[in-house]
Amino acid sequence: MKLPTFLGGVHPPEGKASTEDKAVEGLLPKGDLVYPLSQHIGAPCVPVVAKGDHVRVGQKIADSEAFVSAPIFSSVSGTVKEIGPRMTIPGSLEPCIVIENDGLYEEGPSLLEELGHKPEPGEYVKLIRAAGIVGMGGACFPTHVKLSPPKGSVIRWVIVNGAECEPYLSCDNRLMQERPETIVRGLELVLELFPEARGVIAIENNKPKAIEALSGLVAKWKNPRISVMPHKVKYPQGAEKMLIWSVTGQETPPPPALPADVGCIILNARTTYQIWLALTKGQPVTDRIISVTGDAVAEPKNLEVPLGISVQELIDACGGFKSNSGGKYPPETPESNSGEKCPPETPGAPVKVLAGGPMMGLAMRSLDVPVVKGTSGILALTAKSAWIAEEGACLRCGRCVEVCPMRLEPTLLDHAVRRRDYAEFEAHGGMSCIECGSCAYTCPASRHLVQSYKDGKAAVTAARRAAAAAAKAKAEAAQKLETEAKK
Ligand code: SF4
Ligand code: SF4
Repeated sequence: MKLPTFLGGVHPPEGKASTEDKAVEGLLPKGDLVYPLSQHIGAPCVPVVAKGDHVRVGQKIADSEAFVSAPIFSSVSGTVKEIGPRMTIPGSLEPCIVIENDGLYEEGPSLLEELGHKPEPGEYVKLIRAAGIVGMGGACFPTHVKLSPPKGSVIRWVIVNGAECEPYLSCDNRLMQERPETIVRGLELVLELFPEARGVIAIENNKPKAIEALSGLVAKWKNPRISVMPHKVKYPQGAEKMLIWSVTGQETPPPPALPADVGCIILNARTTYQIWLALTKGQPVTDRIISVTGDAVAEPKNLEVPLGISVQELIDACGGFKSNSGGKYPPETPESNSGEKCPPETPGAPVKVLAGGPMMGLAMRSLDVPVVKGTSGILALTAKSAWIAEEGACLRCGRCVEVCPMRLEPTLLDHAVRRRDYAEFEAHGGMSCIECGSCAYTCPASRHLVQSYKDGKAAVTAARRAAAAAAKAKAEAAQKLETEAKK
């Protein structure tokens, strides 16, 4: 049978064998818990607790009045030890709340207790916001915003993204296998909000157990609005635009168009699980499953951990690294006679640790950083499997063009950015790049293409902001002159 898919894309080695059959294990933290105030796209939160306060599990510790934002909750009971800058996964110091765990895991009141009754559909979106739910696949877009499409849009598809196309990661696969009823029930709850929509659970065909578990439930519960749709295994099948294309056959227009503009809402599998938790148990986002994997990890696992736990504790819970580096990262890099840094020769030593998968993950500089809502995986790679090649000149081979799922011309965009010709970058659709890394993966010259597009997008965004600020200042000055002239 021909499985649905999209045009372009690549087939990187899956690397999932070391975790896909490992049941999820719980892990309790040993050290302090650290919560960055920005764990979502949108306005950062501000603390609603102060140093010395006692907090319980599920108690709100930070929030914002902005619509595009999501509150943050304590995942343990204990005492607020500090509010201040701490190192985070991207390698920058960010304002954080630090909580000293008392080890009692004393539960706070549930969101449903506060509500006082079983939630009605009209209260779902408010509760989802109150639970701090964001896109748990890594995008971290607040879910209540996604579930509030612009007036006039008709939602015809709610798609649960169970593709998990990033190599190495198995956290969504395990969730769908081990708790399938929560995914189907979560989707049913969302469908109550969109009476004209059908629900599709989209899964890559390399997850037969998850497909079987979910299809079995859908058949048993006989909800005619829900189906499970296996997809061809191809990266980046889980990207929103690729899923919309392969499920509905529709193309999403370039930004600022949203999936809702083509009648679609896409929810990651874990996000759907969190919706179920919030609406049926009143639980906010306090935990998540993380695949801790890669050929440098002694015993790869899927761990369910409280948010705020340090990445080092996750590595320790997996037996540390295979080398005897004492669990340290980054490793000491010996210097050659010419003074150049050499990659460590020790077998099993990590040379690269990523938050996320190898295609879109973020290289980390330290393991002493906290897990946040969007952390789906920790991938530690040895020199053998890490992709550290020297960049060469473009060979004009056109491979990047063939694989780009957004039908862009990656080489042209790259040249435009390197010439700092951001107008050309924009004119050729650079802002539509989804940073999937398919072009870089296939490039024989190891061009640093994704970094180039990130730079291009940042420059265009900064120029747009500056132009908007200048236009606003001009309009204000004109208004002031007019007011003075009238006096
Ligand atoms: S140009 Fe962007 S969207 Fe296209 S393959 Fe490269 S990273 Fe992906
Ligand atoms: S794949 Fe690499 S070498 Fe080939 S055209 Fe694209 S950027 Fe140039």
